[in-house]
Amino acid sequence: MAQNYYQKEIETMPVLEMKKLQSEKLVKQVKHVYENVEYYRKLMDEKGVKPQDIKGIEDLHKLPFLSKADLRDAYPYGLLAKPLEDCVRIQSTSGTTGRRVVAFYTQNDIDLWEDCCARAIVAAGGSKKDVCQVAYGYGLFTGGAGLNGGSHKVGCLTLPMSSGNTERQIQFMTDLGATILCCTPSYAAYIGETLKEQGYKPEDIPLKAGIFGAEPWTEEMRKNIEETLGIKAYDIYGLTETSGPGVAFECSEQTGMHINEDHFLAEIIDPDTGEVLPEGEKGELVFTALDKEAFPLLRYRTRDICVLTREKCSCGRTLVKMAKPMGRTDDMLIIRGVNVFPSQIETVLLNEGYQPNYQIVVDRANNTDTFEVNVEMSPEQFTDKVSDVLKMEKSLAGAMKTMLGINPTVKLVAPKSIVRSEGKAVRVIDKRRLTEVIRTTP
Ligand code: ADP
Ligand code: ZN
Repeated sequence: MAQNYYQKEIETMPVLEMKKLQSEKLVKQVKHVYENVEYYRKLMDEKGVKPQDIKGIEDLHKLPFLSKADLRDAYPYGLLAKPLEDCVRIQSTSGTTGRRVVAFYTQNDIDLWEDCCARAIVAAGGSKKDVCQVAYGYGLFTGGAGLNGGSHKVGCLTLPMSSGNTERQIQFMTDLGATILCCTPSYAAYIGETLKEQGYKPEDIPLKAGIFGAEPWTEEMRKNIEETLGIKAYDIYGLTETSGPGVAFECSEQTGMHINEDHFLAEIIDPDTGEVLPEGEKGELVFTALDKEAFPLLRYRTRDICVLTREKCSCGRTLVKMAKPMGRTDDMLIIRGVNVFPSQIETVLLNEGYQPNYQIVVDRANNTDTFEVNVEMSPEQFTDKVSDVLKMEKSLAGAMKTMLGINPTVKLVAPKSIVRSEGKAVRVIDKRRLTEVIRTTP
């Protein structure tokens, strides 16, 4: 397949040249941050590192880490590296795991971010001939703004739908012939389900590609969405702290996401010791923003667990790839001492012929964790014959036990009884955490 690139020279740059470019940018960036961000200057001083100690990317490990706790500490202006009058935009995290953090952008920061999103759209086969439906939330959340900007840069006819109002999404999609859909994977699944209910077959849907991210999703979920919508589904990754979506994006090979490493320098560390791990090992992803001006985080710990690889890619891009993150260190549930990621449950469900509509409820009773998975039956699976339901529940619980090593209580529930997500899906209700919060609140 002929490849298109949005910024070919960067996307296919020889690795050594890229490292040189990163080194030059890093030296400048560290100086900029040291001079303008008192919070980080103090961290560097405490570690005894001066800007002149950083001569290239080989010195990166000398710099202190930043974490979400630092962002909360420094809220709202403590990590700002430019006068407020040079900033033109604020965006904020979705608050999935606690208090929201805010990020600031200069016009140049927005331009570079939108370039990253444009690279993702072109890698998914987008061009000015496409109609791009952006169904990520608009507003403080970065999804809508980032892909809207990227779509403009590519020259697509942009439908700034924002999330929600699924009927209207479908009306615009079909009336205006949207060819690319951008939203969270859980919302894509919901839109697909609604189209199917309305009698649309995959071949009647004008879409050819989807760019889905902002939450973890499995290969099984990808297959499910691709089949329902009749498209190729591409992953996109990012976080507000580094700008938003577009930090990494998938190409036609679909074996991981290329990181826009001319802007974001990636490392993998051991989340317990902070030690930098060699490429290919699984650990926590850490990013250094190489040319952001207003909110340039250095060595930011994302808490996302994944692997980096630099194998040759058939798309011709030389940018390092990150595997799909399995979830965040803080998404991981420890149930009866066993590590459980919601993505593992999703894999089992889709393999067993269920739809990805589920919720995990964890609690404590008699000093033991209880672990319940509520799973929706599809209209075709639905039965009210108790013995059939019990049989299905038992079989699903068995498949989960094989994957996880512990036994959940599976409860099959009626079609449409689990709330659909228009943004990031809420998969876990951990009542143990809720009680802790209540206990520690004065
Ligand atoms: P919040 O931390 O409140 O969710 P963001 O909206 O900035 O704020 O979300 C960023 C996080 O979303 C990432 O750190 C990551 O955990 C998750 N994420 C984003 N894109 C993906 C993706 N493609 N796959 C898995 N997780 C993703
Ligand atoms: Zn590729």
